[in-house]
Amino acid sequence: METILIVEDEKRVADLLRAGLEEAGYRTLVAYDGAMGLRLFQSDKADLVISDIVLPKLDGFELCREIRKSGSSVPILMLTALGTTDDKLDGFDSGADDYMVKPFDFRELKARIKVLMKRVVRKEEKRDRLEYADIVIDLDRHHVSRRGTDIRLTPKEFNLLVYMVENAEKVISRIDIAEKVWNTHFDTGTNFIDVYINYLRKKIDRDFDTRLIHTRPGIGFIFSSNP
Ligand code: CA
Repeated sequence: METILIVEDEKRVADLLRAGLEEAGYRTLVAYDGAMGLRLFQSDKADLVISDIVLPKLDGFELCREIRKSGSSVPILMLTALGTTDDKLDGFDSGADDYMVKPFDFRELKARIKVLMKRVVRKEEKRDRLEYADIVIDLDRHHVSRRGTDIRLTPKEFNLLVYMVENAEKVISRIDIAEKVWNTHFDTGTNFIDVYINYLRKKIDRDFDTRLIHTRPGIGFIFSSNP
């Protein structure tokens, strides 16, 4: 049974969605704010997310960005009372796949859900992979291996590795990493990045003869098999 995560702070709308979608044969999870939506998504992978935009704690765009940052390509449908072109563009910028304006027609919603679910099946047929030297990253499954050995990473370590591999052979600064991986500006220091780099080194480099993560003193780091 496919699971749909509903993120909606208006209880009446959330109840309506839950009832309608369960009747249509889906399993549902309901969150009443963005932060709860993100937690539910992380703990119980949904096959599709329906999210309102104006939400307490984390808005729908932020939720969308967080889900994409975790490497997930789950279809996300934004459901909102806002309907201007700018809002739609924001939705797609943050990684949403579709957009519906409230009040919505339930039959149309179900039709769009079907289309989005089909798109996922097609995506799964060709998994997104990222490779560098002997590292293979399966972006959809969040799976990493080096020379055939499985490497278990936390979500943050995974995101950091993906960023480094995407920027392999280029020197990247701590500020770049703070902004691109943590999505924040750190004016007060970036020591925590060194901590994460060390975690990653232990997992990626320690047991292999070719080191891939190199420090460039005073500048940052470079991910390279030929530094
Ligand atoms: Ca709302």
